[in-house]
Amino acid sequence: MNPTNDPALKSWVPVPPDSHFPIQNLPYGVFRRKDEEVPRIGVAIGEHILDLTYLEQHGILKVAELGHRTVFSEHTLNAFLALGRPAWHGTRLAISRLLRADEPTVRDDAALRDHVLVPMADVDMLLPAAIGDYTDFYSSREHATNVGIMLRGVDNALQPNWLHLPVAYHGRSSSIVVSGTDLHRPLGQTKADDAPAPTFGPSRSIDFELEMGFFIGPGNSLGRPIPIDKAADHIFGMVLVNDWSARDIQRWEYVPLGPFLAKNFGTSISPWVVPLEALEPFRTNGPKQDPQPLPYLRISEPWAFDIQLDVTVQGAKMDRPHRLCASNMKHLYWNVCQQLAHHAVNGCNLQPGDLLASGTISGPTPDSYGSLLELAWKGTKPIALPNGETRVFLQDHDRVTMTGWCQGAGYRIGFGEVTGRVLPPLTT
Ligand code: CA
Repeated sequence: MNPTNDPALKSWVPVPPDSHFPIQNLPYGVFRRKDEEVPRIGVAIGEHILDLTYLEQHGILKVAELGHRTVFSEHTLNAFLALGRPAWHGTRLAISRLLRADEPTVRDDAALRDHVLVPMADVDMLLPAAIGDYTDFYSSREHATNVGIMLRGVDNALQPNWLHLPVAYHGRSSSIVVSGTDLHRPLGQTKADDAPAPTFGPSRSIDFELEMGFFIGPGNSLGRPIPIDKAADHIFGMVLVNDWSARDIQRWEYVPLGPFLAKNFGTSISPWVVPLEALEPFRTNGPKQDPQPLPYLRISEPWAFDIQLDVTVQGAKMDRPHRLCASNMKHLYWNVCQQLAHHAVNGCNLQPGDLLASGTISGPTPDSYGSLLELAWKGTKPIALPNGETRVFLQDHDRVTMTGWCQGAGYRIGFGEVTGRVLPPLTT
């Protein structure tokens, strides 16, 4: 077993039993201390952050695979992502060792400990990477089927290509924001089916989409595909993604090139990137694929992940969040390796820090649907909230929070959360 994943490992840093960040996780993030300007890179441990920037600058984090490179003095994870699996593994091993209960280097040095162990409450989290390109897949069969039924009826729910390739579109990276960022309701063109002409104004159908995304590590050169059995070497780790959507704008604009302004007003991600290495024990088989994919999309190992996911909403008049759905990443029909191999098969060059998102992760039951569009079935089944209100889409000041975790024996590998509110539109 990978020693960093041993369920028996304990840290000298206190980790509450329900924490998302035990020593078996060690997700990477970029943070800024409230009394500093300059961003730093760290890993989450319990309710603290271990400051890798400080440890690197003071020669305490020694990683043979890094040589003399100073990847943690950057303001994003990109330089680290570019290094690839051996450097990631060496670094994880070294960090795991520093945090182990029986390792005195930091544990027994009070001054050093004060410098490098930062309470999460004392920082702001930033985007973990400079995201060059963002691609959003559409890989949940249940989601694609539900949306297809609403648009085209039961008999033509899945388009003819869907079972043969992981459908996707190019999103926009400039509007990807870190958890905690609120977004204004977008303005746009919409047209009711029975209206003679479109009108302009604030969207009336703001939705969330429950997704997971993964960060690209080393890329490929332009023209050179990535074979599927090498795909995992290009995947660093995963985050939660809320792909906010304006359904009324989407319905009018998406023909024939797909979504545009309905999606690019904001996409929220969780700040902690959980390394693929920490997720290794939670790999599992995905749904059976029939028809068998073409050879370039065939996997020889299980590449689905057992990640439990849930979504809550809290409106301005609610005193606590209300759970809207619970799903699991293992439901996805197309897995991360297939998505990546397909993306690069034409020679499209992926680059360190690119973000590839899964598409809405809906499960088989109505309480596992990953969007309001499906949960309220295109507005026909309003969702009752505990305070007597209902929702078919999001209202101004509604807060949507997504969380996700892998359940181990006595510990959780968690993703923290991605949260944000819908604010009223800005009209000027
Ligand atoms: Ca999406």
